[in-house]
Amino acid sequence: METSRQDIGEGEKEVKTGRTPPSASEDVSSEALGHAVPQVKEKRKGKAEGANSTEEGASTSNLHNRGDLSTITVGGVTLQGVSVGGQETCIIIPSMKVAFDVGRCPQRAVFQDNVLISHAHMDHIGGVCLQAATRGLFSLKPPRIVVPKVIVPGVENLFNAFRALDNAELEHKLIGLEIGEELRLSGELFVKPFRTYHVVPSQGYVVYSRRQKLKKEFVGLPGPEIGRLRKSGVEITDVEEVPEVAFTGDTTAEFLTDPGNADVLRAKLLIMEMTFIDDSSTVEHARKWGHTHIDEVVPLAHLFQNEAILFIHFSARYRRKDILEAIERLPPGFREKVTPLLERF
Ligand SMILES: [Zn+2]
Ligand SMILES: [Zn+2]
Repeated sequence: METSRQDIGEGEKEVKTGRTPPSASEDVSSEALGHAVPQVKEKRKGKAEGANSTEEGASTSNLHNRGDLSTITVGGVTLQGVSVGGQETCIIIPSMKVAFDVGRCPQRAVFQDNVLISHAHMDHIGGVCLQAATRGLFSLKPPRIVVPKVIVPGVENLFNAFRALDNAELEHKLIGLEIGEELRLSGELFVKPFRTYHVVPSQGYVVYSRRQKLKKEFVGLPGPEIGRLRKSGVEITDVEEVPEVAFTGDTTAEFLTDPGNADVLRAKLLIMEMTFIDDSSTVEHARKWGHTHIDEVVPLAHLFQNEAILFIHFSARYRRKDILEAIERLPPGFREKVTPLLERF
């Protein structure tokens, strides 16, 4: 009997146990299900990057490309991602060396130095040990894995269990961050967690850039004059912190009205969960399972100051067509900002 993806929709899964075992249908490709294959502006990577040899004589170029993700550019940010509610979420931004969540560890996620985990549901953290293991295999430096502070002991246990089973080192640096705590990523980039509202401990992340910016009073002065001022000890720059990308992980729409989350709504690109997009599910159902329903977001559309918004984590019950129709129904002015992540739909 054919199993449709509808049978493993996020809400249904969580009703029973909070998480259920993987279904055979998860491996069914969209082609096999008769769906259109995403036609986004995409580039398939020909081979893995950073081909390093390993002691086993393997090289990273041996990573097979099956299941490689499309590359898309949204709000000026180039990323790869997959996100199907209850199945798998991982959003990869190579320019920031970041993977947000790692449900199953897609190939490109292996090459990101920083893994920022929103919460410990399997579809968001399931690939975390594999990511560390594969980096070890290819002699890449141990990843930094950032998680909500409260789940640090659980994640340590997870790694210890795999270490015992696998007899591998699984080198990594586990960092528990609390809301508002800051961690430098690389160069001028740093990250801070923000509050989200899910059914287990959770947090989102804002990645900021920090730049020196010429103070207003000196703008327009000739270069030599600015140089002279600097040499004479005058402070000529201000530090500017710009929220570049925000990622929510799973949450109800409540994060939008949290006064502590202003930067989330100012980030150039907001990557937000949008599990339920039509009246096949109610707002109450979405809230009960800690998810966002589109009907709650539309009345708040005026809050978004983001240049671009990427909707992710659609329930597996939906087809590509349903998602595109839902985007089409968004009010003008908001609709233009929104891109749906259609990988696997
Ligand atoms: Zn999820
Ligand atoms: Zn979740």
